[in-house]
Amino acid sequence: MRPTPNAALSAFGTTIFAEMSALAAASGAINLGQGFPDEDGPAILLDEASRALHSGVNQYPPIAGDPGLRAAIAAHQRRFYGLEVDPDAEVLVTFGATEALSATMLALCGAGDEVVMFEPYYDAYAAAVALAGGVRRTSALRFPDFALDEASLRDAVTARTRILLLNSPHNPTGTVFSPAELEVVARVAVEHDLLVVTDEVYEHLTFDGATHVPLATLPGMAERTLTISSAGKTFAATGWKVGWISGPADLVAAVRTVKQYLTFSGAAPLQPAVAAGLGLPDRVFAAYADDLRRKRDLLCDALAAAGTTVSRPAGTYFVVADAADLGADDAAAFCRELPDRCGVVGVPVSAFCDSPGFETLVRFAFCKRDDVLVEAARRLAGLRRSPRAG
Ligand code: PMP
Ligand code: GLN
Repeated sequence: MRPTPNAALSAFGTTIFAEMSALAAASGAINLGQGFPDEDGPAILLDEASRALHSGVNQYPPIAGDPGLRAAIAAHQRRFYGLEVDPDAEVLVTFGATEALSATMLALCGAGDEVVMFEPYYDAYAAAVALAGGVRRTSALRFPDFALDEASLRDAVTARTRILLLNSPHNPTGTVFSPAELEVVARVAVEHDLLVVTDEVYEHLTFDGATHVPLATLPGMAERTLTISSAGKTFAATGWKVGWISGPADLVAAVRTVKQYLTFSGAAPLQPAVAAGLGLPDRVFAAYADDLRRKRDLLCDALAAAGTTVSRPAGTYFVVADAADLGADDAAAFCRELPDRCGVVGVPVSAFCDSPGFETLVRFAFCKRDDVLVEAARRLAGLRRSPRAG
């Protein structure tokens, strides 16, 4: 007899990223859907990984992660944010931010506990909460500025809320929460005695003077905040899946207990390479962000020229545009048609939402080579000339 699939995941099929990347591969369209760069990051990471691979660093690392990487993560938190974390007790290396998120929910979200997150939300959050038997509640960020709405955040919090999940810089909107918005989050967390999990994988991808402020740096927050990040975005190595979590020792220990039964430990030769990357000078991080800002402008200008209203992001490598301006009333249908219409793939923002109000929004990724973006811009310009309801 076939076992019954886990009912908690009955609402989850194939992710929108896998679906849209498959559509891009099948149609030959330019894939601005799933967010991954098409160029390698700093050579030192590749050299160091290769060196480690060829010098015997191929067995299980310690469960908490390579000590050199944990020390580099602690040094990074101190250098960029003034945060002090003990690399032995307060840092855990994970299989990407994704495992950090899932292990955290499995460790700290009990059955029926509510987790509040901002909507649109990164799709893995919903699945991680569901796997843990928790209940998702959302506070919407509205197009085009995607600002935090304190009243809606307060509405989402109930007596059953245990965890507040924050993502800044925010996927898919590109919003970087301002210090004032972060203060609202901190106030609500303290008032309701919530644990906060912050996903900061785009921490170094901010533009135009917007700076990333980790929530853990706000007064009273370090003791209730677990901070998650990953090498994928910072070093243009999304396939490496080296992530980490830092925060209070007892919470990190609880996550480590779960993590050891999910994957134990892995990516041995990649861990020293990421440690080397985290030690690169500030100017390397700044230059990458500056390069991405230029790419952002290229794609935003192309989408505006195609006739869409664009929310120009202050961070990440995503931009959201409104396909309603092209006559679409359903971005999911619009995105399925887009390869045929103009040879470009995007993802519908509604895939990251529970509430109405996001139906016509499309997310495009700009972490691509300039020549690819220029060609995408040329193709998108054709949309204006071939209006068709999506
Ligand atoms: N969080 C956000 C907001 C993301 O966009 C992603 C996708 N990279 C992840 C987490 C997952 O990160 P990783 O690839 O390190 O698991
Ligand atoms: N983080 C990537 C994005 O938002 C997708 C990662 C994935 O496919 N799981 O595009």
